[in-house]
Amino acid sequence: MSKSFDITIESLALPSAKVTPEGCGPEIIRAEIANPDAESLSFAANKSFFIETFGCQMNVHDAEKVAGVFLARGYRAAQTIAEADVVLYNTCSIREKAAQKVFSRLGAWRGMADGKIIGVIGCLAQQEGEDIFERAPWVSLVCGSASYRKLPQMVAELEAGGRRVMGLDLDTEETFETEITRRDNPLRAYVTIIEGCDYSCSYCVVPHTRGPERSRPSEAVLSEARRLADAGYTEIQLLGQTVNSYRDPSSRQLGFVELLREVAAVEGIRRVRFTTSHPNDFHREIVEAIDSTPALCDHIHLPVQSGSSRILGAMRRTYTRDEYLEKISWIRAARRPISVTTDVIVGFPGETDKDFEESVTLLDAVGYDGVYAFTYSPRPNTLAKTMPDAIPEAEKSRRLAVLQDRQRQIQIERNNKLVGATFEVLVDTHHAARAQWAGRSTSNLIVNFTSPHQNLLGEYVQARITRAAPFSLVGEQVI
Ligand code: SF4
Repeated sequence: MSKSFDITIESLALPSAKVTPEGCGPEIIRAEIANPDAESLSFAANKSFFIETFGCQMNVHDAEKVAGVFLARGYRAAQTIAEADVVLYNTCSIREKAAQKVFSRLGAWRGMADGKIIGVIGCLAQQEGEDIFERAPWVSLVCGSASYRKLPQMVAELEAGGRRVMGLDLDTEETFETEITRRDNPLRAYVTIIEGCDYSCSYCVVPHTRGPERSRPSEAVLSEARRLADAGYTEIQLLGQTVNSYRDPSSRQLGFVELLREVAAVEGIRRVRFTTSHPNDFHREIVEAIDSTPALCDHIHLPVQSGSSRILGAMRRTYTRDEYLEKISWIRAARRPISVTTDVIVGFPGETDKDFEESVTLLDAVGYDGVYAFTYSPRPNTLAKTMPDAIPEAEKSRRLAVLQDRQRQIQIERNNKLVGATFEVLVDTHHAARAQWAGRSTSNLIVNFTSPHQNLLGEYVQARITRAAPFSLVGEQVI
């Protein structure tokens, strides 16, 4: 799955909700209270929590919702792990290294576990389950994301003196809704519309860690969007492992495209993004909606994973190279230029030089604006782990470098063509040392620019591009 590529989250991460890779910035918290409960808000007035998060946007947003569970119980957000009464490690298991890191991190917390509740949540919690208690006996809460709806009960049990609680239920039709979502990013709000996944890609742990696909009722999504607009947000990013397979479970029975159009029509919302799309559920109507709805951002992240139809079959991705390219042709035929990014895995078991070469040539065939490339990493409970013909690590690394190098060249060429163009940028960062502001265009390009103005954070400005780099653009504000 796609790695988080959202620099705004990194640059605006709070000390009380550390996101890795870490960064720091202004301390701004927005908590939207849907249904405050005065009794529960005074429940644990002197206690505090700290959440450390690894992984994708889904994990980042889960942390915001889990924080809401604690805020609703009267906890406050601690500034450091040391001062927190409850410390939660929100884990990712998409790659082997991320999983190894969890236990070394838990080991580092051992010395300060006394008197605290230490919890492991997220994908690795689901994957390792009870074994976490064996390997790190100072942990007292283990909860996978499909069981987050039970968190309030689990926390209540620990508050009442319980020693260990565990939530590993995958058999659910429910989604995780909270009274309060404590959003760390003051500019872009994540909104989950679908959880889990019903695909069975042979390399992926997500169906085993996040459970089956389940969509939120459209009215719940829309009322959250309206509340966000009232709270001052202008940009919303709709989230799901396979966001475009959304199916409204309510009587309205909206499809993904209809939901997109309705969220984009919410007064005050200027930008709507969505991630991650599965190519199988990517239909021409999505392009038509973007073409005709200015608030829908002109960017599509469409993970291909491999350029070889043979490897796509082994990955169980349910489409071929040609079918993927046909979908790209719809995007290229749009009236609005739409940027396209993707994920690629190199070194999948049995990937020959020819298969790999097809991934490299696909980069040219599509002309991506960004590629998140990874070496294949075998994961527990996946079919691919049992496949023969593993590619040696050194060869995987070589292929990754070749692919990244080619993509870098493509991005230089594409970005050079943008010199002289003007983009609307939502400003999310100030680089004081470089005397530059930075933000994203609707097409998700990073634009660094100079301006005579003093405070532009959160503003929409027009920036003219004067120079291109492979991963960003440089320009000046149009006054
Ligand atoms: S679509 Fe495939 S890669 Fe994406 S979450 Fe589902 S199983 Fe994993």
